[in-house]
Parts: sequence; C-alpha cells; structure tokens
Amino acid sequence: MKRSTSNIIIGGGAAGIFTAIRCKELDPTSEVILLEKSNQLLSKVRISGGGRCNVTHACFEPSLLAKNYPRGAKELIGPFHTFQPKDTVSWFQERGVSLKAESDGRMFPMTDSSETIIDCLMQAASTAGVEIHKKKNPLSIQKKEGQFFIQLGNEELVADQLVLATGSSSSGYLFAKSLGHPIVEPVPSLFTLNVPTSPLLDLSGISIPDAILTLKTSNFRQRGPLLLTHWGFSGPAVLKLSAWAARKIHELDYRDTLLINWTASSNAETLYQTLLQQKASSPLQTLPPLLPHKLLHRLCEALCIDPAIPLAKLPNKTLLQLACKLHADPYAVEEKTTYKQEFVTAGGVDLKSVDFKTMQSRITPGLFFAGEILNIDGVTGGFNFQNAWTTGWLAGTAMGKK
Ligand SMILES: Cc1cc2nc3c(=O)[nH]c(=O)nc-3n(C[C@H](O)[C@H](O)[C@H](O)COP(=O)(O)OP(=O)(O)OC[C@H]3O[C@@H](n4cnc5c(N)ncnc54)[C@H](O)[C@@H]3O)c2cc1C
Repeated sequence: MKRSTSNIIIGGGAAGIFTAIRCKELDPTSEVILLEKSNQLLSKVRISGGGRCNVTHACFEPSLLAKNYPRGAKELIGPFHTFQPKDTVSWFQERGVSLKAESDGRMFPMTDSSETIIDCLMQAASTAGVEIHKKKNPLSIQKKEGQFFIQLGNEELVADQLVLATGSSSSGYLFAKSLGHPIVEPVPSLFTLNVPTSPLLDLSGISIPDAILTLKTSNFRQRGPLLLTHWGFSGPAVLKLSAWAARKIHELDYRDTLLINWTASSNAETLYQTLLQQKASSPLQTLPPLLPHKLLHRLCEALCIDPAIPLAKLPNKTLLQLACKLHADPYAVEEKTTYKQEFVTAGGVDLKSVDFKTMQSRITPGLFFAGEILNIDGVTGGFNFQNAWTTGWLAGTAMGKK
C-alpha cells in the first residue's frame, strides 16, 4: 500500500509533537502525519523532572540562555530570538496551562504533574488535526526525485517534507546518516561521579552549598552545591561538570581526579590566614564550623588532626595542611552513574549540516531536525526541553510556510 502526503514527522517525543502542532496550526490544509515506534507518546515528558516535568527555565535573555548548552550554544542564540522560554510560557498559557518558576529558575506546571503537559500537547495535536500513528517503526527512508520514501513493512509513505525527531535513538542517527548527515559520536551527559575508594561514602546525604570542583585531567571546573552519595558525588555542581566534561571524560573512560575545594576558597593561603587569625583571636576554641560537623571531622581524621582540641594546640604547620586539603582535596573518579532525574545524550546530527533559521538540512532539502537528535544538550534545569520546543517551533514554522 502506498500513500502520498505532505509532511511526515518521525518521533513522538516533545520535539516531534511540538513540530507537528506548529506545522499543522500554521497550515491547516496540509497533512501532518506523526509516526511513533512505541505505543506511547511523550514518554520522557511523563518521567521528566521526577514526574513534575521541568518544562523550561526562567532565563529570558537569548545569549545568557544559550550559555547553558555545552553543545549548541552558538547555534541556539538565533533560534532563541524567535522562540525562547517566554514563548514557551505563553504557548502553554494560551492553551490553559500555567507554569511557575522555582527559586533556582526551573519552571514546572502549576499542578506539579507532567500529565498536565502531556494532556495539553495531545489536546493541541488533536485540535490542530495532526494524524498520529503509534507502533510505526520505519525500516528505511530514501530520497528520490525530491520526495522521501518511508518503508513500513508492506506499507510505503511518500512525503514532500520529513522531520527526524527521534531523540537519542540509534535508528534516528542511522536515518540521518543514510540521508547524508554526519553524526557526532553520541556519549552520555548529566551523570554523577563514582568514587569507590572515597572515605566519605558513609556520609551519604550531606550537602555542601557552595564548593568548587575541578576535573584535573579533563581540565573542567564548576561551582555550586555538592551532594555526598553512597557511590561518590552528585548535586548540581557535579551534573553541570559532567555536562561540560562529557566528551573529554568519555575519552578518559570516566577516570579522572576530582579536586574538591570544599569551602570555595580563592586559595589555600587565604584559608590558612583565616585559620591563623581564628587561632590568635580564640585560642581556646576548636576549629570553626567551616563544613558540616561530621564531614569536617572525617577530613581532619585523614590528616590525623583531632578536631576536638583547642586551636592553640594545633601547630601552624597542621593548620596549613588542613587549609591545603580543604582547598584541593583529591578523589579518584572511576566510573559514572546516570542521574535518575534527567540525563541526555551529547552528540548526534552535526550542527554544521543544519540551517538554524529553519532547522532544514543543508545537505538534503526537505529534511528537518528537531530536539535531542541534534548535537545539542543542555545542563539540568529545563534547558533540554527548551531545545525541543525551540527547534520544533522553527522546523514546524518552516514546514508550515512551504
Ligand atoms: C529521566 C529523564 C528525565 C528528564 N527530565 C527532564 C526535565 O525535567 N527537563 C528537561 O528539560 N529535560 C529533561 N530530560 C531530557 C528530555 O527528556 C529530553 O531532552 C527530551 O525528551 C528530548 O526530546 P525529543 O523529542 O528530542 O526526544 P525524545 O523525548 O527521546 O523522543 C523521541 C521519540 O522518538 C521515538 N523514536 C525513536 N526512534 C524512532 C523510530 N525509528 N521511529 C519512530 N519513532 C522513533 C521514541 O520512541 C520517542 O518517543 C529528561 C530525560 C530523562 C531521561
């Protein structure tokens, strides 16, 4: 059976659905068919943000927003001038869904339920008239005489325009490759660091509000909250570090030395001087509460320092040793663990091969890309969905206008 149509979108995630809605709303007369290989649409939206869906981030300045993308920052600045978080908020608001911002900038639906976002998107797709087919997994896609031939078992679909919005699925990369697109090797991003030899594993749950982390060999640095876990280290600073270092640390097989500056001190000397001043002014007191009690005790133990004795009894040499440890405490990273709240893939369709005004291929006219299939990934906080909304909007707009 053969069917000819105007627009086909492959992939029923955030990017595919958003592209389909925009295209069909802009040109209601054209056919928009969406093919999803599984029997469930928007499955990542459902589990995202711990079931709350961190839809976007309250950052409304395109150039600042783009800084949250280890890959894609340069290319996304232009698109963010067309569709940015403010537009995402309005888009959902116009369809009856209000978003709220948390103190760290993450935006969630007021209901705190990802089902609200799913219902809204599915309703918009249905109202616009997007034709959705589940359990459709194309076997091959070919371009002949200006049209795309999509083989689905004994069915064949022929389309004038095609979107690949298949996320990080390997089949999507293969289709892109078969249509002439170079693929940057996919590697994981947004993970936590495993340090099996850490003497702090039993202190799991302790968090430090402001630490500076450096991966010594990869040469990446991040500052922010750090969380001790029973396998190593997590928390916003680690996740951001993993995103920026994703490719380099992959090359190192996830082995590197993590240097923790526990108090975010500018240098060990300053910290040493602070301890000396404390010793001079309050010689009978013990060490100041630079860190949570149990953690400070454990770090002192490693240097054979008894934290219970008065400062007057701690030699200056010992205080210098402590300052050096607090400033650059080394831990041997041996593996990674994917963060359960949000993980993404770095790598995918090479950005040079895509026109970011329309998301159209520079190699194969009529072919578009949206979402995570592209070599774009953001840090945690709603930036990855924003990429899906923005690139989906641009692709849908360009297709709907044709
Ligand atoms: C646990 C978890 C939580 C997350 N939480 C957040 C969050 O709160 N905020 C945030 O910004 N980001 C979050 N992310 C990241 C975010 O989910 C992704 O960046 C986003 O879903 C990408 O959208 P997409 O449409 O490009 O890809 P996907 O959501 O992966 O959708 C791709 C779709 O294409 C389908 N598909 C694949 N191959 C084929 C094929 N050959 N034929 C037909 N269909 C195909 C897939 O089945 C899937 O439905 C989270 C990720 C995870 C894993």
